[in-house]
Amino acid sequence: MYKSANVFYPQDEMTTALLPITIGCTYNKCAFCSMYKDETYSEVPFPEIEMELKHGYKYTEKIFLTGADPMSIGFDKMKKLLHMICDYLPYCACVASYASIRSISQYSLEELTVLHNLGLRLLYIGFETGRDDTLKLVNKGHTVNEAIQQAKKLNEAKLLFNSIIMYGIAGEDQSVDNAVATANMINQFAPRSVITMNLTVFSGTELHKMIERGCFIPPSGVERLIEIKTLVENLEPNQPTIFDTTHPTNIIKIKGTLPHDKERLIDEVNHRIML
Ligand code: SF4
Repeated sequence: MYKSANVFYPQDEMTTALLPITIGCTYNKCAFCSMYKDETYSEVPFPEIEMELKHGYKYTEKIFLTGADPMSIGFDKMKKLLHMICDYLPYCACVASYASIRSISQYSLEELTVLHNLGLRLLYIGFETGRDDTLKLVNKGHTVNEAIQQAKKLNEAKLLFNSIIMYGIAGEDQSVDNAVATANMINQFAPRSVITMNLTVFSGTELHKMIERGCFIPPSGVERLIEIKTLVENLEPNQPTIFDTTHPTNIIKIKGTLPHDKERLIDEVNHRIML
């Protein structure tokens, strides 16, 4: 079987059956990321995927496609893949995957609707921040406007997605502004959930080098807590949206549904700030 040295999947997919689709990352240039630095990008050949499905548990109900951005394989291959999953795992009601704003932009609304109808039901997308200067600083490869346009297209295709954002990413003294800008971006579309990650600096990354050169100063822990609070305060979803900071990188673990739990979430962060 085609194996990657590094297999990552979201916390919520811990018990989901994994199906390898790509190895490494097609982009591999985000300044904060070390996940696939040592891996050359490649696609898992279809005969290998078919073999995996053939030996899969027939009653599997959910599949998570592994790889940094499986949607990067393009519409024809995604369609073929989803047909194959339907054939071998007829009870599978949800295929989930990581995706990027860059890969989503390759798909038309009609193509996304086709994939949704074939069982692609949930994407995890790294939006990171709602500030263009910060996206540029970390070389994310998309702009805020592109993120909003692609997210709106997913909403129109009725394809659910979780927005992953990263607090601390704008640097020292920038957290409040970053939180407001990120909330303003998210308020323009409808994610299923907002999942936060805490900026973690890995050695060997561009971000690490920027810190060594004195070009980037990460914010303090308290500033990051204020960033989370400001984000919650400014998020105004027009439909129930999960807010989730329970990923292991986070400095506080809170979870609730906005707008219903807004006050409770703010109180929990305030309580931590005052400790
Ligand atoms: S954050 Fe995602 S898109 Fe960016 S380099 Fe890492 S795996 Fe690739």
